[in-house]
Amino acid sequence: MRDWAVLMSMFDYDARPVTPGVVLVGTSASRGGYAIRDFLSRNGYPFEWVDAGQPDAMRAVLGVAEVEPSALPLCILPDGSRLASATVEQVAAGLGMVAAPALPEYDLTIIGAGPAGLAAAVNAASEGLRTVVVEAVAPGGQAGTTSMIENYLGFPNGISGSELATRATVQARRFGAELLLARPLVDVSADGPVYVAELSDGTLIRGRAVLFASGVEWRRLEVPGIDDLLGAGIYYGAGPSEALACTDSQVVVVGGGNSAGQAVVRFSRYAQRVTLLVRGHDLGSSMSQYLIDQLSAIPHVEVRVRTQAAALEADDRLRAVIVRSGDSAEPARLPAAAAGDQSARRVRRRGRALRVGQTLLGGHRRGIDGRGARPPAAGRGGR
Ligand SMILES: Cc1cc2nc3c(=O)[nH]c(=O)nc-3n(C[C@H](O)[C@H](O)[C@H](O)COP(=O)(O)OP(=O)(O)OC[C@H]3O[C@@H](n4cnc5c(N)ncnc54)[C@H](O)[C@@H]3O)c2cc1C
Repeated sequence: MRDWAVLMSMFDYDARPVTPGVVLVGTSASRGGYAIRDFLSRNGYPFEWVDAGQPDAMRAVLGVAEVEPSALPLCILPDGSRLASATVEQVAAGLGMVAAPALPEYDLTIIGAGPAGLAAAVNAASEGLRTVVVEAVAPGGQAGTTSMIENYLGFPNGISGSELATRATVQARRFGAELLLARPLVDVSADGPVYVAELSDGTLIRGRAVLFASGVEWRRLEVPGIDDLLGAGIYYGAGPSEALACTDSQVVVVGGGNSAGQAVVRFSRYAQRVTLLVRGHDLGSSMSQYLIDQLSAIPHVEVRVRTQAAALEADDRLRAVIVRSGDSAEPARLPAAAAGDQSARRVRRRGRALRVGQTLLGGHRRGIDGRGARPPAAGRGGR
């Protein structure tokens, strides 16, 4: 990894520069652009997002008013090199995040660097085991995306997910654990007494034991056309950085769990209105009371119980959510478009930048089998 990449990484959390090192140019309705924003944000890389539809912003950054649509998303790396039609894998490699395993063999290969994987890494490495952690996206997992965790032992005033992830990563590394980032595990096979883990880029890791801590994958909402709008108004999960981009927007959050409640509180600080859709009769059965109290104290938050998203209105991106409540035959239309014009602004910060109204889907989860990973039959963790 190059020196500047180390300096800018999330692992130097408090020392990260405020000037973005990465510039990303794309359209707000681009799934590829969203994937890169999400990846950079979750890895703590400051970046500047420039909307390709805004000539003034384009001129200010690129010196030209427009670029070929086929070149988008366009990523400019800190060394000035440009990646046209950039992918997450190319950006990760360009930022020096992709490293080969340092050892020919490990005692323990951990799949997933969420809280479970990082805790296992700290414990294993501190006991002297040669430990490697494989992470598909970013250290911290789900926990890394939340703005405040209030029930983690030892943090009486709460701790942000990104700080928890950073601290845990530093701790694991301090004991000698190795982290291989930005590539998912795709296969595990046995070679005599050794398990061989294969990553998506073909990297092979040999280990005497494999521990799966791959967390969960979002259950998809069953609404026609929803998959076509992923990253273009529809998002699963809601990172802290997305909230700022929703300034003056109308946001719909689906789900009745604590994650949905936290997202509503966070987005309400910026959005013009936040509507929470809950299938059940009340929030009490699925959400902690402290969050219910917080929601009820925010005037521009509306909670609609016994209500589900039924359909979407969209052109190149989401425009409205059609909802059905209880036994009512009449659907209601919730606009999901920016009330204020955010589009002329360039967004410069450590985080994702999304422009217009969005639907954030939370609260529906299911266990997964490692995002394409095929674990050995005899032992896998996760949930
Ligand atoms: C918005 C939000 C707020 C939350 N708030 C709280 C809270 O306040 N308090 C609380 O107790 N809990 C909270 N949670 C829940 C908590 O974050 C999870 O319970 C916790 O993160 C689970 O940890 P984990 O390590 O088991 O899994 P995860 O955090 O899901 O981590 C799994 C990791 O494995 C990686 N992975 C998956 N498949 C592969 C593969 N094939 N190859 C490589 N890597 C892979 C993933 O990318 C991920 O990083 C919240 C969750 C969310 C989403």
